[in-house]
Amino acid sequence: MTERIRQFLRDRRDDGPCLVVDLDVVRDNYLTFAKALPDTRVFYAVKANPAPEVLKLLAALGSCFDTASVAEIEMVLAAGATPDRISFGNTIKKERDVARAHALGISLYAVDCKAEVEKIARAAPGSRVFCRILCDCAGAEWPLSRKFGCEPTMAVDVLEHAHRLGLVAYGVSFHVGSQQRDVTSWDRALAAASAIFRECGERGIGLTMVNLGGGFPTRYLKKVPAVKAYGSAIFQGLRKHFGNAIPETIIEPGRGMVGNAGVIEAEVVLVSKKSDKETVRWVYLDIGKFGGLAETIDESIRYPIRTPRDGDKVAPCVLAGPTCDSVDVLYEKEPYLLPVSLEIGDRVLIEGTGAYTSTYSTVAFNGFPPLKTYHI
Ligand SMILES: *Cc1c(COP(=O)(O)O)cnc(C)c1O
Repeated sequence: MTERIRQFLRDRRDDGPCLVVDLDVVRDNYLTFAKALPDTRVFYAVKANPAPEVLKLLAALGSCFDTASVAEIEMVLAAGATPDRISFGNTIKKERDVARAHALGISLYAVDCKAEVEKIARAAPGSRVFCRILCDCAGAEWPLSRKFGCEPTMAVDVLEHAHRLGLVAYGVSFHVGSQQRDVTSWDRALAAASAIFRECGERGIGLTMVNLGGGFPTRYLKKVPAVKAYGSAIFQGLRKHFGNAIPETIIEPGRGMVGNAGVIEAEVVLVSKKSDKETVRWVYLDIGKFGGLAETIDESIRYPIRTPRDGDKVAPCVLAGPTCDSVDVLYEKEPYLLPVSLEIGDRVLIEGTGAYTSTYSTVAFNGFPPLKTYHI
């Protein structure tokens, strides 16, 4: 929570929940990444918060961008970045979209299988491709399953296939899981990456780049290591596995770039109990899973919540959203401690909500409008 956001909310007149993002914090975060990893290029993961104000600011600071669709590519171009600063990092692309991206000047693509390599060879001939490998994601609060990436041994064949089809076999990528609180997780992935570099080298293919992905955390309720600690752990990993032949590297921070820059202001709509005997209160807010807080799925991300009654006695409650879908409950398995004095109409502040909120909000489920956003 920054003074600028506090001021904005004090003067705000319109109704309903809203997200306020302080662009000064985004700027600080970018500079912190650039300083912690001075030889690494930053590709902001656009999906975390694609607001034009965020993209414009980062483009002006010199950031590059990781995109997942043609629409995201167009937004980044509109923000002033040139195509050579954009990667098409989704491993699942329609060939028509690869052709559109190619026409827009994009020449860096992610793949994780031969079929995707073939699409790129046809629709974006001569481009650079990097192969994403599976990662176990241990230690991440928002792990990324087996949906993306292939086994490292297969990556060698995928990259060789790309080379044979006239593409530039550029390197390897991985993602150690989002909200990764263990700074050593990059080490295992770097070991796998260096083995792929070696194996490709033996086949006469010289790889150039390791894409270190995202995963850099934002502060929610638990403490997280500083970006600097990630920078030095990653550098140590590179040294250990690549020796003096350290490859070109890029990072793709999403959450770590914008998470702590945003605060959602919401309102308590109802406080109730399910029976006279039960002690646990149900607190319903005017925002829930469908209004932008989708990352509370499985209660994975636990946001800090400030109330005007902080300091009063607290008790556990179930926290839920306003829609008529029963999955719209934020925290129940592990109830949330809120002041007993909390009342209908109170405004609460949900912190650390600059990433993965605004575009997760539905367009009008139950008639609730999408989350209002202000980037100041
Ligand atoms: C989502 C995503 C990121 C950003 O991840 P964070 O954990 O938010 O930093 C980076 N790279 C790729 C390929 C992604 O899909």
